[in-house]
Amino acid sequence: MSHVLAAVAWPYANGPRHIGHVSGFGVPADVFSRYMRMAGHDVLMVSGTDEHGTPIQVQADSEGLTPRELADRYNRVIVEDLHGLGLSYDLFTRTTTGNHYQVVQDLFDGLYRNGYIIAKTTLGAISPSTGRTLPDRYIEGTCPICGYGSARGDQCDNCGNQLDPEQLINPRSRINGETPEFVETEHFFLDLPAVADALAAWLDTRDGWRPNVLRFSRNLLDDLQPRAITRDLEWGVPIPLDGWRDRNDKRIYVWFDAVIGYLSASIEWARRTGAPSAWKKWWSADGEGKDAAAYYFMGKDNIVFHSVIWPAILLGYSGQGSRGGSPGDLGALNLPTEVVSSEFLTMEGRKFSSSRQVVIYVRDFLERYDADALRYFIAVAGPESQDTDFTWAEFLRRNNDELVAGWGNLVNRSISMAAKNFGAIPPALDLTEADEALLAVAKAGFGTVGGLIERHRQKQAIGEAMRVVAEANKYLSEQAPWKLKDEADKPRMGTILHVALQVVSDANTMLTPFLPHSAQKVHELLGGTGTHAPMPAIEEVSDLDGGPAYPVLTGDYTVGARWESTPIEAGRTLAAPKPVFKKLEPSIVDEEISRLAG
Ligand SMILES: [Zn+2]
Repeated sequence: MSHVLAAVAWPYANGPRHIGHVSGFGVPADVFSRYMRMAGHDVLMVSGTDEHGTPIQVQADSEGLTPRELADRYNRVIVEDLHGLGLSYDLFTRTTTGNHYQVVQDLFDGLYRNGYIIAKTTLGAISPSTGRTLPDRYIEGTCPICGYGSARGDQCDNCGNQLDPEQLINPRSRINGETPEFVETEHFFLDLPAVADALAAWLDTRDGWRPNVLRFSRNLLDDLQPRAITRDLEWGVPIPLDGWRDRNDKRIYVWFDAVIGYLSASIEWARRTGAPSAWKKWWSADGEGKDAAAYYFMGKDNIVFHSVIWPAILLGYSGQGSRGGSPGDLGALNLPTEVVSSEFLTMEGRKFSSSRQVVIYVRDFLERYDADALRYFIAVAGPESQDTDFTWAEFLRRNNDELVAGWGNLVNRSISMAAKNFGAIPPALDLTEADEALLAVAKAGFGTVGGLIERHRQKQAIGEAMRVVAEANKYLSEQAPWKLKDEADKPRMGTILHVALQVVSDANTMLTPFLPHSAQKVHELLGGTGTHAPMPAIEEVSDLDGGPAYPVLTGDYTVGARWESTPIEAGRTLAAPKPVFKKLEPSIVDEEISRLAG
């Protein structure tokens, strides 16, 4: 058994989740974590909502809320969305906790002491009429990159590029329209060039990464510049240096604090379990975590933060860049083992857009359809390795033709036939070649499916599991146990059904990481008791360091099925099953498309 960190990208707390958000990394990270736990690894799956930065403050301003109030609202909404999908986070928390502030400041401190944070004089905006600092979000102008007329001082919402306020063409104050004056001001920068060699050496040791991720990351090293980690804004983590700590106009930049969330959430998890240093089993590079593996799941637009910038922070903090140094208070920390990025999901041929209502929110989806129907679609047709389009017609087809007619049909007909004719799991007597062959296909599936999930080929993995299902359906059609009605044929009928039920049990175990809700139901239909697929729960907790209470997603995942064939017990009572999956009416396609704005 080894320790495996599943670090899942942090959703920004400015709205509910849509299915594009969860299909790239939320659901795939859950599939991976569930499988790794079933295979005997000690998994820690963490994430939370990313709540600082200008966009949240701007949105709060426009809704007449404080940033914290806005973050509270969407933190809760997102926790509920992820809970509805059954994502098995050990801890899903947020960046506005006292614990997160401490860990961020500790990393800042360690980097600063080692010389990897440098102060630089840059241009900051002030309002000529008041003489006060004008925060980035209050400056608007034309984007120098794409020409968009309403780019903000820190970012262009049209092209997504990060900006500095003085780069804007025709900058103006959003408060009173005046032209800001730019004066020299001090900010802190992460000295990326000082860790470039260490990064290159580390990237050279990475094998098994998707080649595009590795190539992209290596190319970035040629042109590394110091990167600002503080900003002129009020909403964020204070800078932990004398003379800066109490300033209200300068904060740590949101990207720097958010990426540290993986570590702070692990520490918060440990503190909540009553073993405050237990996080080291996943993180400590020179101690008990030195053999741990860390997998980071994100969309392709976020690779740079996980393959270059976060590793740079970890290297600098651990004292491993060109300036040397020694590890900070938390000790030397593990770098990512693998960066698993996904491509984008589009929607009926268009880009998801909440503002243009080209969107399906997770909560709306779950009001009308089962979580596993969406999880199935994401697994077989998600944006794992190329941009992918979600269409309702394809969702309907996958659900009805594959999930219902394939897997649901196998479960339903084998269990109902055994229940009707035997009232229990019948014993297997003499096995024929066909019986042995099917059992062998199912047994071999564990190695194949598991190996593919470990290599982040989930689409192929579920394809292999569904191939076992198809083989079992074919076996039943060929063996036709329903024809063996004479009393003399009944032992053979029982043997066929026993074999079929064993393969249902095996296929169900292999499908558990993908379809945990229905896997629990199938387990119970087979007469099983107890937890087969553990589920997360929402808990209201108090801040460990005295802040306000908040909801977290957590659970006990030490229970549940193992990744192996479990022999079914002859004689176990079976009842006539209710269908596990719902067949959908073709009319939903037009109904759903009409919900989208034209
Ligand atoms: Zn732009």
